[in-house]
Amino acid sequence: MMHKYLIGNWKMNKTLQEAMDCIQYLLPQLEAIKDAIHSINLNLVIAPSFVHLWPIKELIQHHTLIQLAAQNCHHEIQGAFTGEVSAAMLASVDVKYVIIGHSERRIYQKETNDLLASKVKKVLAAGMSPILCCGENIEQRNTGEHKTAIYHQLKGGLVDLTLQEVQKLLVAYEPVWAIGTGQVASLEVITEMHDFIREILLEQYGMIGEKIPILYGGSCNAKNIAAILNGSNVNGGLIGGASLQVNHFMEMINNIT
Ligand code: PEP
Repeated sequence: MMHKYLIGNWKMNKTLQEAMDCIQYLLPQLEAIKDAIHSINLNLVIAPSFVHLWPIKELIQHHTLIQLAAQNCHHEIQGAFTGEVSAAMLASVDVKYVIIGHSERRIYQKETNDLLASKVKKVLAAGMSPILCCGENIEQRNTGEHKTAIYHQLKGGLVDLTLQEVQKLLVAYEPVWAIGTGQVASLEVITEMHDFIREILLEQYGMIGEKIPILYGGSCNAKNIAAILNGSNVNGGLIGGASLQVNHFMEMINNIT
C-alpha cells in the first residue's frame, strides 16, 4: 500500500517553547493510535523553523511516529552565503524532507525554476527527500493557463534526476489562491490537477512516476481532509494554518486514521 503523508508546515510561527509544547502534546496521542497510523502507512511530518529542528529532533528521537522536514535550503553545497542553511546541515540534524519552491518563496524570494532545480538536486545528494511545490495563481486559473503553469514548474524544477533519485521525490500541488485563504480547491479541481501531475510524472519517469507521492495543500482542515485524501492520485496533505493549532492538527490525524 502506498504511503500517505500529513505534513505540517509551521512557516515563521512559534517560539521554541511553543514548538516544544506542541510536539509534547502530540507524542502521547500519536503513541495511543500508533496501530491505526501504521495500518494506513501514514507518515507524519512537521516542518518547524530551522532553529527548532535540533531541539525537536532531540524530543522525538525515541519515537518513530513523527519525522522532520525543513521549509527550505540553499542551492549551493556550502560556502560564503551568510545566513543560509545547506542541505548537508539539515541532513546532519536528521531532517528527512525539505519543502522546495513553496509559493511564498517563489513570490517573496523570487525563486525561479532553475534555482529550485538545483535545490532539489542538493537535497537528494544529501540523502533527503525534496517536496517540490507547484501551483497556479488566480490569474493563471482564470485565463485557463493553470495546467501550463504546473507543467513548466514541474519540468523546470525536476531536471537531470536519476531514476534512483526520483524514488525519493514528493510533489505538492498547492494552488496559490487556496493557500491561507480558506478557499479550498473543489474535489473536481484537485482530481483534475493531481491526475494531470501524475500524467506528467509518468511521461517523464515511466512506471516510477506512478509511485511519486502527490500531496495537496491549500486550506485543508479537520473537516475536509478525509475527503481530500480519498481523491484519486492524492497521497497526502501539506498543511499550513491548520497545523499550527496542535489540537486541530491532531483532529485531522484522527479523522484520517
Ligand atoms: C501552505 O502554505 O503550504 C498551505 C497549504 O497553507 P494553508 O493550509 O494555510 O492553506
